[in-house]
Amino acid sequence: MTFSVHGITVSRGVAIGRAVLVASSRVDVAHYFVEPDQVPAELARMRAARNAVVEELQRLQAEMPKDAPPELDALLDVHLMLLQDEMLGAGVKQFVIERFYNAEWALTTQLEIVSRQFDEMEDPYLRERKADLEQVVERILRQLKGAAQPVAAPPPRAPRQQGFELDDTLDVPLVLVAHDLSPADMLQFKKSVFAGFVTDVGGKTSHTAIVARSMDIPAVVGARSASHLVRQDDWVVIDGDAGVMIVDPSPIILAEYGFKQRQGELERGRLVRLKNTPAVTLDGQKIELLANIEQPADTAAALAVGAVGVGLFRSEFLFMGREGKLPDEDEQYAAYRAAALGMHGMPMTIRTIDIGADKPLDDRRADTHLNPALGLRAIRWSLSEPAMFLTQLRAILRAAAHGQVHLLIPMLAHLREIRQTLELVDKARAQLDARGVVHGPVRIGAMIEVPAAALSLRQFLRHFDFLSIGTNDLIQYTLAIDRADESVAHLYDQLHPAVLRLLADTIAEGARQGKPVAVCGEMAGDPAMTRLLLGLGLRSFSMHPSQILAVKQEILRADTGKLAPWAQAVIESDEPAELLQA
Ligand code: PEP
Ligand code: MG
Repeated sequence: MTFSVHGITVSRGVAIGRAVLVASSRVDVAHYFVEPDQVPAELARMRAARNAVVEELQRLQAEMPKDAPPELDALLDVHLMLLQDEMLGAGVKQFVIERFYNAEWALTTQLEIVSRQFDEMEDPYLRERKADLEQVVERILRQLKGAAQPVAAPPPRAPRQQGFELDDTLDVPLVLVAHDLSPADMLQFKKSVFAGFVTDVGGKTSHTAIVARSMDIPAVVGARSASHLVRQDDWVVIDGDAGVMIVDPSPIILAEYGFKQRQGELERGRLVRLKNTPAVTLDGQKIELLANIEQPADTAAALAVGAVGVGLFRSEFLFMGREGKLPDEDEQYAAYRAAALGMHGMPMTIRTIDIGADKPLDDRRADTHLNPALGLRAIRWSLSEPAMFLTQLRAILRAAAHGQVHLLIPMLAHLREIRQTLELVDKARAQLDARGVVHGPVRIGAMIEVPAAALSLRQFLRHFDFLSIGTNDLIQYTLAIDRADESVAHLYDQLHPAVLRLLADTIAEGARQGKPVAVCGEMAGDPAMTRLLLGLGLRSFSMHPSQILAVKQEILRADTGKLAPWAQAVIESDEPAELLQA
């Protein structure tokens, strides 16, 4: 039966494919594809983990004190029985053999399937066994985590789906459906080919959404109970423009979306022709179009759309999902140098680590802070871990010998933080000098993403060479709306007069003092915002490579002389959205 689930649109276009469920689990689970020749080893890893749990439970039984309640012994019997049951084991094996899922992913997927069967059972005793099954699976996951193998680089695309009941000789497009995806998971998935994804949680500028945009695949977040409503292998359509997922579409709906998908492809084809067209407005204003990247390899995508540099390299992605083992100076240096070389002398703006809130180093559920978005994140964390921060700064300064590297500092709010940061940059330089290690010059910029920073521009401009406005956080902190919380996503308003005022003032003050100001938040990559930002005087935009050509198209049609008075009217209006559409 066809039904639809509504969420928040984060990435445009249409995807049609089979649902791949990524079940959530209390244990942090890695999801990746294994190489076909690694399948036997992966099955052996699974068997070893299961056998270890069997031994663990048998030991518990043997060591049970005499006065222990008899129910406990019976419960362990049930757990042992579930462990041996083929209902779990056979399915897991199938997912590894046929889909090349890693053991953890196969296990949580099968758990989800079996849990649903339990939910449908009439007998309340049997229904309650679901909780036992979850506990057993959690034990296996913990064993697997303990015995985790270094994550093999996943193959560049999802393997051929040999196990599908239908179309089993075809490459069926896959659509990810999950409760949530960690940023680290997203990076893994980025190396595979997925046609689109849907998550239950998340907002327009949550990091999951941001990575989706960088993957340039249709996506919907904040779709509430999507992962419960969809079953493994269901056919789904994702309408990224409308923020809707349609499950089990009828042939008429499929045909309609097939048409829409082809239209989208044609439009993309037309935009590609703009790649080498200079980004100049009708009145001759040259506009700088820069790329946002997460990994050095993303420079290829930036060059492919004609970006003239990188305005934001989110370095934190190098640090994520490494079980606490942070990359050392040489590893970071290699990554930053690769990024700098990848841009062939064009600017490479490396932002120092921005960890915390919705970008945890490892398991986000482990974050026990009361309010991580207001807590120890970004530069605050870096300043609290000076050895880690100095390591990163040295690596960036060394990479600066190989390209035009800029250093960008996230989340600054206090003058004290500015001073400490700049002192640490000097110290990192001195340490390299003392070791006789080559390093290069960097221009240092600050992100304006906390209202306090936007309201103390004079200090920021005095200390920094350039500013970059992080509208994602600036909106979050100005409006007190968690950017990752779908329940308040309707209040996350980029056109709120307070947001526009801070934006306009920052751009104007930078121009007055002759210091470059860019916008690197998602607003810069939204073609609906291009004219407004141009009218406010913005001349440097940094965004996902996937957005660059659409924004360039807007720029080529714009006349900044006419847009300037209109933009002032927009920011003073009670209904900016209406003026924007006019
Ligand atoms: C921003 O806040 O707008 C920004 C670019 O930084 P991030 O999205 O990585 O927090
Ligand atoms: Mg930010």
